[in-house]
Amino acid sequence: MNIAVCISQVPDTSARIKIASDGKTIETADVNFVINPYDEFALEEAVKLKEKFAGSTVSVFTIGGDNVIANLRKAFAVGADKAVHLKDETPKDAAGVAAILAEAIKSHFGAVPDLVFFGKESTDFNDAQVGPMVAELLGIPAVTVVVALETDGTTAKIEREIEGGKEMIEAGLPLVITAQKGLNTPRVANMKGIMAAKSKPIETKPVSTDAHSKLSLTKLEKPPQKQVGKMVGTAAELVGLLHTEAKVV
Ligand SMILES: Cc1cc2nc3c(=O)[nH]c(=O)nc-3n(C[C@H](O)[C@H](O)[C@H](O)COP(=O)(O)OP(=O)(O)OC[C@H]3O[C@@H](n4cnc5c(N)ncnc54)[C@H](O)[C@@H]3O)c2cc1C
Repeated sequence: MNIAVCISQVPDTSARIKIASDGKTIETADVNFVINPYDEFALEEAVKLKEKFAGSTVSVFTIGGDNVIANLRKAFAVGADKAVHLKDETPKDAAGVAAILAEAIKSHFGAVPDLVFFGKESTDFNDAQVGPMVAELLGIPAVTVVVALETDGTTAKIEREIEGGKEMIEAGLPLVITAQKGLNTPRVANMKGIMAAKSKPIETKPVSTDAHSKLSLTKLEKPPQKQVGKMVGTAAELVGLLHTEAKVV
């Protein structure tokens, strides 16, 4: 099977995000960028399928600056075979990202691969659009928010999370899948994988055009600071404050 996994880099959850002076980007100097957590579920599922189907390859794709290299090596360490770095630092919207990825995937495999994995969303910009957009551009179906996947290489049985329950779906391959937490437990790289990752080649391709982005980000804003809490001594005092200050009782 030919399997593609698209991974994005997001700030580590412990990072303190500061908006840069242009008001449109964040200061990245002290920020540690990690693989988007949902993309780790996508990658794990791809590697599990590679282990099940002999002769399969897992290729990872990412758009970004040189700071993506460390995360591509991490993808190698847990089992990816090939990596394509689409080198670019110019902001683009989800449609711009999707167009570049779809073109790169087709050109890398010479055809549409059997499975194309994404995270259900990135944890920084949370668009949840790139996966379905790539599916449309490749002319294949997309199943989103997937929590279980079984395939014989030709068809797939899929469970996806919906409000208050699960939905079971059957579909033929090729297919786009967007991964949700619960799909699997991503493995931790072992020493053999880390050593092997050092010598696997990364194919770097410049991104020369962004004809597809239609949106421009005008401003980023942080939420207003929360008011400092107040300690109250007794239930009667609390009820009094809810009545006189919060005016909710
Ligand atoms: C080079 C570059 C520079 C950017 N600069 C800015 C900026 O200055 N200011 C700003 O506000 N935004 C910036 N962005 C972010 C951009 O606006 C979002 O990445 C884009 O809108 C996609 O939205 P999302 O990440 O929420 O995608 P979602 O649709 O939530 O992502 C879903 C999935 O798509 C895949 N995916 C998403 N992004 C990538 C990627 N880059 N490479 C591979 N797979 C991916 C992953 O599998 C991810 O889980 C930049 C993006 C790029 C690529």
